[in-house]
Amino acid sequence: MWFDKIVGSIEDNVKKVFDNIAEAARKSGRKPEDVILVAASKTNSAERVREAFGAGVRYFGENRVQEMTEKAALGAYSGAQIHFIGHLQRNKVKNVVGSADLIQSVDSDELLELISRRAAGLGIVQDILLEVNIGAEESKSGVLPEGLDELAAKASVLPGISVKGLMTIPPVSADPLDSVRYFDRMYKLFVDISAKKYDNITMDILSMGMSADYAEAISAGANMVRVGSAIFGARQYTK
Ligand SMILES: *Cc1c(COP(=O)(O)O)cnc(C)c1O
Repeated sequence: MWFDKIVGSIEDNVKKVFDNIAEAARKSGRKPEDVILVAASKTNSAERVREAFGAGVRYFGENRVQEMTEKAALGAYSGAQIHFIGHLQRNKVKNVVGSADLIQSVDSDELLELISRRAAGLGIVQDILLEVNIGAEESKSGVLPEGLDELAAKASVLPGISVKGLMTIPPVSADPLDSVRYFDRMYKLFVDISAKKYDNITMDILSMGMSADYAEAISAGANMVRVGSAIFGARQYTK
């Protein structure tokens, strides 16, 4: 991948990403601060997360509950928001509700119910995004586009949950332009579902775009991007 070649410091990389975000936002008639950068920090140590914080990152995303819990205990996310962005297993719900500021990857009735029950038990309201499988890939998490309405309707009547928007991971492609048609479809879904005005649902956030295609995602209407490798370099899963 092209970003295997990223060798800059975390600080330099963060600056570059913020610059690119600002440019993409302005090009589509928005302000740089209207787009939130979530640094996807999986496999990176708490120290490296703090480096990114030092460079101005205020939102982090983690994929694994245990890694998030361990790094949180080390103060990795102090002063920042932590989002859960990975596939959420049922038996891990209790460890994420109330710990993550936003759970971006909710895609089933069952997860909605478990999160609702846990949040109600804690006496809190958990912010979530509904994850959409926009490419209808068998291997991917996310509700299919045609199932989104039903999931939203379900979420709107459950206590302890507040839906803030949508998230997606489009099919992997070598060409970021391939992502654009999926981003466009997501934006349309986002607008359609906003118009339906469900209780407890505000469509404030459209989370899409990663290292290879966040500029394209912003052009298509994303206001939250999740960027890992372009900030931290290529991931080493073997350590
Ligand atoms: C790892 C990850 C990202 C960031 O991916 P990069 O290509 O490294 O920017 C974004 N979203 C999710 C859900 C991820 O797991």
